[in-house]
Amino acid sequence: MSFNFLKNFKNPWEATGEKVRNSGVLRNVVDEWAQKNQAKILGQEVEVTEQGIFFNYLGEMLYTTNGSLKGQIYLIENSGFHVLKSSNSLSFKNLKDFSKTFDENWRQLTAESISKIFTTSVKDALLNNNQKLNVENLYNSCISIDFNGKRYNEPWDYKADNQTEPNASTTVVDGKIKVSAFQNMIGEYEATVENIRCTLAIHEFYGHGIKLWNNDYENHWKCYAAEVDSVYFQETTDSLKKTVLKKLWEYYCMAGNTANSFPTKYNLLYHKYVD
Ligand SMILES: [Zn+2]
Repeated sequence: MSFNFLKNFKNPWEATGEKVRNSGVLRNVVDEWAQKNQAKILGQEVEVTEQGIFFNYLGEMLYTTNGSLKGQIYLIENSGFHVLKSSNSLSFKNLKDFSKTFDENWRQLTAESISKIFTTSVKDALLNNNQKLNVENLYNSCISIDFNGKRYNEPWDYKADNQTEPNASTTVVDGKIKVSAFQNMIGEYEATVENIRCTLAIHEFYGHGIKLWNNDYENHWKCYAAEVDSVYFQETTDSLKKTVLKKLWEYYCMAGNTANSFPTKYNLLYHKYVD
């Protein structure tokens, strides 16, 4: 554990910001850090400069900007995050951006921790039927994980079925929707909350799990269309938009449809993000 910034500050660290009263857990992390380093915190709150959702390496959510589940996913080491931007705000130096350092990150996380991060990200997501995703309806109330053999909550065994590794998959088991996420999922786009919601909540849980659009030659394209129609699509990253629109077009054609009937809305977005 190292606190590089301490080299630059001889006096105890003092924070007097006013922003994080709503986060008891993060507050505890800050207090614990201050205690260990004999730093003094003035005032009741600290200001966080990054926007996003913050997890520790156990997959527990520590803090989210404005109390909303949006944006970038960050990882904080519980015992040693790095602080101090000015006298009255906290900045998390060396914060791990879960997406940009994804390969390095998932190797440090257990499959259970990855499941917690994904489950928290899809919890209460607004589905296209205007209902919220109730995690109780997930198989054992969480997302199943298989990251290069690191498994949790009985993910679909694609190898046993002689399939190649998917991004994600859904099966219905005893009335519960089993959504499995694979390492591949992050291959083509970043793990932001909106990207995870589009993929796991809308395409998988809603499209495959509730609507049962499971036939490539009939209706799988509707899962991709549902992503585009969802409230989250606009906030997804460009790489996710590109992937989804490409696959929407491919599966639309696979179902025997022609370009003439491709809805204008999708066509315009396709030309914007894919062409
Ligand atoms: Zn699908």
